[in-house]
Amino acid sequence: MECMQELRERAAELADLHHVMALLQWDQEVMLPRRAAPERAEQIATMSGIVHRKEVDPRLGELLAAATEQSEGLEVVERALVRKMQRDFDHSTKLPESFVVEFASLTSRALPVWVEARRRDDFASFAPCLAQIVAMSRRQADFLGYAAEPYDALLDLYEEGLTTARVGACFGAIREPLAAMLAGLAGDAAPGAAMPLAEPFRVEEQIRFADRLLAMIGFDFNRGRQDRSAHPFSTGLGGNDQRVTNRYRADSMEFIFSALHEGGHALYEQGVAPELARTPLASGVSLGIHESQSRLWENIIGRSLPFWHHCFGELVQAFPAQFGSMAMEEFVARINMVHPGPIRVEADEVSYNLHVLIRFELEKALLDGDLAVADLPAAWNQRYRELLGVKVGSDAQGVLQDIHWAHGSFGYFPTYTLGNLAAAQIWRAYCRFDPDHDATLARGDFGKVRGWLTEQIYGHGSVYPPGELLLRVTGEELQARYFLDYLGNKFGA
Ligand code: ZN
Repeated sequence: MECMQELRERAAELADLHHVMALLQWDQEVMLPRRAAPERAEQIATMSGIVHRKEVDPRLGELLAAATEQSEGLEVVERALVRKMQRDFDHSTKLPESFVVEFASLTSRALPVWVEARRRDDFASFAPCLAQIVAMSRRQADFLGYAAEPYDALLDLYEEGLTTARVGACFGAIREPLAAMLAGLAGDAAPGAAMPLAEPFRVEEQIRFADRLLAMIGFDFNRGRQDRSAHPFSTGLGGNDQRVTNRYRADSMEFIFSALHEGGHALYEQGVAPELARTPLASGVSLGIHESQSRLWENIIGRSLPFWHHCFGELVQAFPAQFGSMAMEEFVARINMVHPGPIRVEADEVSYNLHVLIRFELEKALLDGDLAVADLPAAWNQRYRELLGVKVGSDAQGVLQDIHWAHGSFGYFPTYTLGNLAAAQIWRAYCRFDPDHDATLARGDFGKVRGWLTEQIYGHGSVYPPGELLLRVTGEELQARYFLDYLGNKFGA
């Protein structure tokens, strides 16, 4: 089919441009000298405009219409390509170019403002930027359109078909059980008992061990790299160029779990079938499924006894002063200690989703106009007190901790909880495939897990929509009960 040939060429060009944009953004967060930030914001805005013009080219619409008409005769992958390109085209054509450029410029400018505001613990200096971002996110929702609520339009950007009602139902299913579990467990943990470190970590050794962990789970350093940034993230600059970042603090073990988390995202991208390269299918299908893969490696595997049975020796070798006199079982107990705190990325598995719930409720209230930006810190701190029993000490440790709102990513947070629920459900399916899963992990055969995930999930890229993929892998739609079972088994013990 001729139109398919031309569509593929256009898809390849757009994929290249998106990767160039991703490089500009990666560089902005990893390498950029501080005073270059305004220039970079202009460059990103200019590129956004150019890319957007290509995305809304009427010729692309004609090609998609022609291909859709003949889609009966197409192979699965080609049909998926047309479907995905149509979805992207519909999104892009709903947003005027002036809006896209303005939003890209605003969020690029907001990023260093947020970094500085967090550093100085000064919410007021970020508030005007945030107010603009909220207003533009609301306009974005109006441009995109929605059936029930403006927030639905933004959720759908990150997770196809996700609605406020469905997110509400997920939280409805876990909120009470988590609160009850927390009440039963949190009392056991003495305040500050997480991990007594005899000596601070040295950054060079942290970096070396984080690299080692990535290599161990199968990250291919010939097709990616790990660097430092203010907030750990993972991004793709091409089929053979996966970038993960980490951050290193002398008094924190966060780098271990960040490496596994971002590594989980990266394994997904590195596992996409090479045939899908330079198409919009050559990437993880949704943020929820993506997060299921990062959380699976970070928590279900990375905080398990069998995993550390294999890795603890190397940890002790890398950090003898810190862990030399600790038993492996004690280490695993400590990295699983349930102790609610103010920071989401450091949260234990029981309280984590309550952090997400707070953000979900607050960003929806901001978007609906029920909450003013000026009142956000107070609302944040109040919810932390009520839901987690945590007194937030400062805005830097509170409302300023996450990068997402500075990025303009409203509707993103709920996909974290979706990911946690999906991870438990997918792990259940893996355990049916490999009944000796504990022994597999204990002998360090992470290739077996990765192989299954590649076959079931990674390899497909975005060929199947997220709901359909989960159904294929697990035989069911997303359920909360596997996650609650997982927590119950782990923390009930
Ligand atoms: Zn993640």
